[in-house]
Amino acid sequence: MLLITCPHCGPRPELEFRYGGEAHVARPTDPSALDDQAWSEFLFVRDNPKGLYAERWNHAHGCQRWFNALRDTHSDKFVTTYPAGAPRPDLAAEEIR
Ligand SMILES: [Zn+2]
Repeated sequence: MLLITCPHCGPRPELEFRYGGEAHVARPTDPSALDDQAWSEFLFVRDNPKGLYAERWNHAHGCQRWFNALRDTHSDKFVTTYPAGAPRPDLAAEEIR
């Protein structure tokens, strides 16, 4: 079973968590200034990398708090988790492997 480390509770089974999409997506400062194309890209277009991806997760069946995770989409390995609102960790390549 895959274990995900909640930054508040520690390692827990993946069944306790819900995926929340890409992390660090900044809301436009003036949404009314966007045209339909730019607004739809903000709402629906996300990165889809092969490798490290910053994601939002919710510990739904635990503390119910949101946090962010860096996950390798190729290996499905969680590299690190960190509290929501914290900046994305700048990991060196050696730490990822
Ligand atoms: Zn938790």
